[in-house]
Amino acid sequence: MSHAPLCPSCSHRGKPADAYCSECGFPRGQARAEEGATDALVGRTLSGGYRVVEPLAEGSMGRVYRAEQSTLGRQVAVKVMSSGFLGNDEMIQRFKNEARAASALNHPNCVRVYDFGTTNDGRPYFVMELLTGQDLEAILAAEPLQPVTRVLDISLQILGALEEAHGLGVVHRDLKPGNVFVMPQRGGGDLVKVVDFGLAKLKSGISTQTGRVFGTPEYITPEQAMAKETDERTDLYACGVMLFEMIAGRLPFLQTEPRELLEAHAFEAPPKLASLAAERSMFGLDAVVERALSKDPIHRYQKAFEFADALREIVAYRTGERSVSDRRSWVRTAFKACSLCGNLNAPHARFCGECGETLERESALPPVSMPMATTGPVSRPVTPAPQPRSDVPPQARVTAREGRGSVPRSDSERPPRSVSATLEHSIREVIEEATESGDPGAALVFLEQIATDRLKAGDPNGAILALKRGIDLARADLDNGELDDPIRVVAIFSGKLGEAYFEASEPANATRALKDALALSRNADERARTWTLLSRVAKSQGHDEEASSYLESASREVASSGRRTSDPPQAANDSTRRKKR
Ligand code: ADP
Ligand code: MG
Repeated sequence: MSHAPLCPSCSHRGKPADAYCSECGFPRGQARAEEGATDALVGRTLSGGYRVVEPLAEGSMGRVYRAEQSTLGRQVAVKVMSSGFLGNDEMIQRFKNEARAASALNHPNCVRVYDFGTTNDGRPYFVMELLTGQDLEAILAAEPLQPVTRVLDISLQILGALEEAHGLGVVHRDLKPGNVFVMPQRGGGDLVKVVDFGLAKLKSGISTQTGRVFGTPEYITPEQAMAKETDERTDLYACGVMLFEMIAGRLPFLQTEPRELLEAHAFEAPPKLASLAAERSMFGLDAVVERALSKDPIHRYQKAFEFADALREIVAYRTGERSVSDRRSWVRTAFKACSLCGNLNAPHARFCGECGETLERESALPPVSMPMATTGPVSRPVTPAPQPRSDVPPQARVTAREGRGSVPRSDSERPPRSVSATLEHSIREVIEEATESGDPGAALVFLEQIATDRLKAGDPNGAILALKRGIDLARADLDNGELDDPIRVVAIFSGKLGEAYFEASEPANATRALKDALALSRNADERARTWTLLSRVAKSQGHDEEASSYLESASREVASSGRRTSDPPQAANDSTRRKKR
């Protein structure tokens, strides 16, 4: 544990290099100087030309000093190993390991390491950039509920640092607010620096952990608690804990005994973020955190950038930019998409150049799936609908259908979806009416009914069309605010869309839609149903291992939802009501 620089007079946690306590005015700099007077290193110049000015903080492995690099006249921080560890090979190794791991990183969000050396009495030290902010622990201690915008920004910067570290094979393994420095910038905003790679594991180097439990109990991961293998997903869990803490204003587990904390992280489900901070965890943030906190690393984000992408989509939603739909509207003005085959035509085209279908007055770009997809960049929307194969005559394409149970092939090779013109017409009418009357709720009830009927009638393509239009409508409502809970509608419609895709033997699309549903749904019963369906889809593709892990997730959801029973989700019944004004 590092000792944060507490004020000797009022115990306020200030910035490490402050001359006076920001809380009580106590001359902390002078106190440090006095303390430094008894420190043999203060006033000395280390081998690399660093004059040690004053101690800044006490860490678990040594002291951090402010120093001056005489040649450049710049201020630096020097971390020197405690003399108590001289002769302790493991600690010396760990200290050197930190220096090596940190010096490999070249990223604005990672503390920069400049130099490394040994003091006259044989203690290793390393020289870093001097950080002037406060650590996140101090910031949260003063104000646990920081603005969500700031929380997301800080988290994204931490994930940026992790992306760099992981890319170089460095896993931090001790991520916690105390190891995240936040430096407010003159022009506004924060610059985040991840520090303390003391427990870092280098893929190619020596790990300091050999089956022993290291780390900080509050932020420890299930695999660390059980002294299992760690990898980059370990850091993503810790990042999830910090995000949980910053959104909810409390940690996911409140046990005080380290042993109990370890057990909780290993075996206990964290509370639902939405139940603690519904407003602050909107737009699927609760689902993102839940995924990051999965006990089994396989269910977490696998890469820092996937986690970051999910957060960026939330940022986009919150700011109203909705990056994905922005790109869509750009495409919409540039092209007119065919609702039958998905071909992108010139904006003034009246007939589809690919299949001859009459084009709508307004371009109907194939709807995109929810941008909060948690399936990583491969699932990023904006991919045009499957393009028809040019080697098949249009007539044959429209009628070519694949029954269930036929040899699975990739969804993109599939012939275009055929939907009856009458159905398309009625769907269009429903939507137009809803747009005119400003009542998307009524349209959604109708679209959901159409989808159910079409599925019953063995026409999954009709259901797919209705559901996709419903998702579009609900997403458009995020701006208009007519619906009580458009996100929930999208979640439910995505689940049904997954079902319809499965019926249409399009497993990749089914998986994508179901994962969208999972990312957005907070209802355990719904989620259990979705996991089960995902498992069936995986099974149909011969992915047995994946299928059984999905089933496990389903039973976990069932366990977490207790004995409650519920009817199948009806988006139209509970979420599409118009807002009472
Ligand atoms: P430990 O492994 O003991 O936790 P840290 O690397 O976290 O060690 O450092 C201990 C404390 O020293 C930090 O909490 C912080 O207050 C201070 N510190 C560390 N690095 C710097 C730096 N580059 N600039 C300023 N202060 C620092
Ligand atoms: Mg530390």
